[in-house]
Amino acid sequence: MAKKNRPKPVPPPELRPLFDAHTHLYSTVKKMGEQVASYEEGIRALMAEADASGLVGVCTVGDGLPETEHALEAAHMHPNVWAACAIHPTLAHTLDDAAKQRLTEMSQDPRCVAIGETGLDTYWIGKDTETPSLEVQEEAFRWHIDLAVSSGKALMIHNREADEDLLRVLEDAPRPQTVILHCFSSPLEVAKEALGRGYVLSFAGNSTFKRNEELREAARIAPAGQILVETDAPYMTPEPFRGRRNAPSYVGYTAWVLAEVRGQSEREFAELVTANACRVYGIPSL
Ligand SMILES: [Zn+2]
Repeated sequence: MAKKNRPKPVPPPELRPLFDAHTHLYSTVKKMGEQVASYEEGIRALMAEADASGLVGVCTVGDGLPETEHALEAAHMHPNVWAACAIHPTLAHTLDDAAKQRLTEMSQDPRCVAIGETGLDTYWIGKDTETPSLEVQEEAFRWHIDLAVSSGKALMIHNREADEDLLRVLEDAPRPQTVILHCFSSPLEVAKEALGRGYVLSFAGNSTFKRNEELREAARIAPAGQILVETDAPYMTPEPFRGRRNAPSYVGYTAWVLAEVRGQSEREFAELVTANACRVYGIPSL
């Protein structure tokens, strides 16, 4: 269907309580353009819409340091927003001493509930001359793992086409209390290995795409305590709005699909993923 003929996304009906475990509020607000006068107004609008869909919390994430500052800022603006702080693997070369010092400070902030997104991304290596090598990414990843361990915060991982290296580094590095594989998109055998190690799998909108049967199988076999849902907004919009701008309020569409796959009622699944988010992020129950 041509883009302009596609239906405009509408938030799903309320399914309470839901928690969007990984989203990018700053990028989402930027995509709203002139609809909002300021970042704060954008956060308020997105969170009002999220509340109407039953969301009781979101964890927002940056990519580089400036956006991570905005993530933490949002967590201080709104009581239902928490932040994850780190430098994205595709920007690993920007993790200099000043950035390390600032991230260490941020990790002590009570509104910072995870160190992420960090990890490995081999997809852009060679395609984009700016993307750091795997060695540079691995060094930054190990630094972030150490920060998760020393701060006691969850480690939130970005993995793009790096399954083997990722599992290798996680195996020989010190073990954080919680390891979250955000926007889990790897083969079923990786899901099994990760679940066996006790990691938490966070599923995004791509788990609703028709061809991704394997992701739904991973969601089906995940033990109760090891599953989260997220939007990764403004990207990864779930069906039936695939390809359009995403927002935290759409997380319910993913939750509906995964609840059915797991043979749980929508309400039961929503309560489960919200309780899991509170536990892994150290948030008192919502
Ligand atoms: Zn993300």
